[in-house]
Amino acid sequence: MGLIKVHDKTFEIYLSEDTIQKRVQELAAAINTDYAGKRPMFIAILNGSFMFASDLFKHLTIEAELCFIKLASYKGLKSSGNVVTSIGLEDDIFNKEIVIVEDIVDTGKTLHNFLPKLEHQQPKSLRIATLLHKSEATEFPLKLDYIGFDIPNKFVVGYGLDYDGLGRNLKEIYQLV
Ligand code: 5GP
Repeated sequence: MGLIKVHDKTFEIYLSEDTIQKRVQELAAAINTDYAGKRPMFIAILNGSFMFASDLFKHLTIEAELCFIKLASYKGLKSSGNVVTSIGLEDDIFNKEIVIVEDIVDTGKTLHNFLPKLEHQQPKSLRIATLLHKSEATEFPLKLDYIGFDIPNKFVVGYGLDYDGLGRNLKEIYQLV
């Protein structure tokens, strides 16, 4: 029960749709409080964060901007960690309140490599919202301001996250068996 197959691998349910949705609403509520009277700009990192960013954004009651950018590729079951470049950040972020939206922080390498590029543009503030955090896998410590779930160091798919291109459409999050 609760088992699915993506490509050659079997995954079991780990976070239900309801559990995810409730937590996303809690994160949005915290952001609404923290950014009351401000106008933050959310920078969501593609591809994995599209679903989280969309649900989170729906529950914001503050004025907010949203843009999507693409960083690095992630193939197979292990993080490649090589951030090539960012595509799609045409907006000027100088003096803006920035919230990065990530699907998952694993080793931390991706954001560790990317943050200096944003900081270089001197935003007014810079915070990170990640749906998932594999704290056991940390190699590059980051200050994560909003964390949905701290999860074990196992590969997950669903709710935007893929395994070799598949599984992003799942409403739940599944863990490799
Ligand atoms: P980091 O640079 O923090 O090691 O890895 C961050 C990126 O690796 C995430 O944005 C995501 O694309 C990918 N990643 C890390 N762990 C997983 C996982 O369990 N499942 C999936 N689908 N992607 C992962």
